[in-house]
Amino acid sequence: MTLKDFFIYLSENRFLNSAAQKYGLRLGAQSVVAGVSIAETVESIKELNKHKISCTVDNLGEFVYEKSEAIEAKNKILEVIQAIHDEKLDAHISLKPSQLGLDIDYDFCKENLRDIVSLANQYNIFVNFDMEDYGRLDKSFELLNELNKEYDNIGTVIQAYFFESEENIERYKDFRLRIVKGAYKEPEDVAYQSKSDIDKNFIKLIEYHLLNGKFTSIATHDHNVINHVKDFVKRNNIPNDKFEFQMLYGFRKDMQYDLAKEGYNFCTYLPFGKDWYGYFMRRLAERPQNLSLVTKQVFNK
Ligand code: FAD
Repeated sequence: MTLKDFFIYLSENRFLNSAAQKYGLRLGAQSVVAGVSIAETVESIKELNKHKISCTVDNLGEFVYEKSEAIEAKNKILEVIQAIHDEKLDAHISLKPSQLGLDIDYDFCKENLRDIVSLANQYNIFVNFDMEDYGRLDKSFELLNELNKEYDNIGTVIQAYFFESEENIERYKDFRLRIVKGAYKEPEDVAYQSKSDIDKNFIKLIEYHLLNGKFTSIATHDHNVINHVKDFVKRNNIPNDKFEFQMLYGFRKDMQYDLAKEGYNFCTYLPFGKDWYGYFMRRLAERPQNLSLVTKQVFNK
């Protein structure tokens, strides 16, 4: 078992997930999770906003199998939307359809999403439907299409590792899109497996949407991609208000501040909530160097 597989295994352990909920942020998770409560999260957003960094706020959630859990998640997101409005924060929402009941019942999930998108729409707040694994892809796009008949404050994510991403970037060019490499382990009949294939397609999709699409969020910690985009927008006279860079809270902080200082729109993906454990383990799986976050916390007391 590789270190990556080990952390994925830990992230999927239901017992450890619920055990961790009893505690506040531990093991260094506080460097990548903005807070457990909404009040703590609002303070983290205000701090980033001071540096001209906007935020996309994600209520962390794992293993939603009961309708009551999905409704609890929806209510938390509605509270965040209210807080963004009341506190006049520069922030919007990122959510995962599975947390709102996609694996329980499609129509139930759609109603939960409608409640969220409707309140956000009232306050002119954007809602991003994050993309999960391949098994949920079609239904997530279907939800987006259906809700788009009523609301235009929604957008989604295109994952560059999927073969079908090229088709999807064209199909969804009129949406505000976040473009990412892709975070889940996917089989070879649906997704590129090698880093170079994924990176190549990632650049191709970003360039396509920058030239043909609505607003583009380039979500990556990869400095090579960021430098390529900086050069590409300059050569093609793409104005700064057509795109932004996004990174996860706590990652490459210096680069986040620098990009904002250079005048680029920058948005930090800000996860919060009691369900921090699975998210934290997946970040360790993605980049075992992040283990230094844990060791620093455990040993530097
Ligand atoms: P990698 O390929 O991980 O890294 C490339 C290179 O960048 C590395 O070799 C290293 O040189 C450098 N680097 C990377 N990280 C660091 C670091 N912390 N410090 C120093 N150097 C570093 N995935 C989904 O499937 N669905 C989503 O909805 C989704 N939303 C996302 C939203 C945001 C804001 C971000 C940032 C990612 C999201 N992802 C999502 C995850 C994404 O798909 C990738 O799995 C993840 O971002 C890792 O890929 P990368 O582009 O950052 O670069």
